[in-house]
Amino acid sequence: MYDIFINTHFSSGHHLRDYPGSCEYPHGHNWKVRVTVRAHELDEVGMGIDFKVLKQHVKVVIEQLDHRNLNEMEPFTTVNPSSEHIARYIFEQLQAPLATARYHLFSVSVHETDSAGLIYYGKSDRP
Ligand SMILES: [Zn+2]
Repeated sequence: MYDIFINTHFSSGHHLRDYPGSCEYPHGHNWKVRVTVRAHELDEVGMGIDFKVLKQHVKVVIEQLDHRNLNEMEPFTTVNPSSEHIARYIFEQLQAPLATARYHLFSVSVHETDSAGLIYYGKSDRP
């Protein structure tokens, strides 16, 4: 079994509704994102998933989030754009394109700062 990941990032603005503190006001983050695919076996070349393929899929989703006011885009017009919800959103966007017989999307981690972040797991892989 192989857990294969790429790191990427995006810069956007957001605010948290009903948050009792400064995060309720508009501000921005440079979110760091790690997308991990779990491969159960390797292909004939010896790869779980080609990094190039993984990067292409992730890029599509990250481009939708980059340089945006997240509160103005679905689903964050109604769902608070917390790092937790952002991780789940990225996961849900990537789950279908990264589902094959050999590998599947395992987790999406989102770091709001160098010292704070979280990992979102799909239903079948929750610890
Ligand atoms: Zn924030």
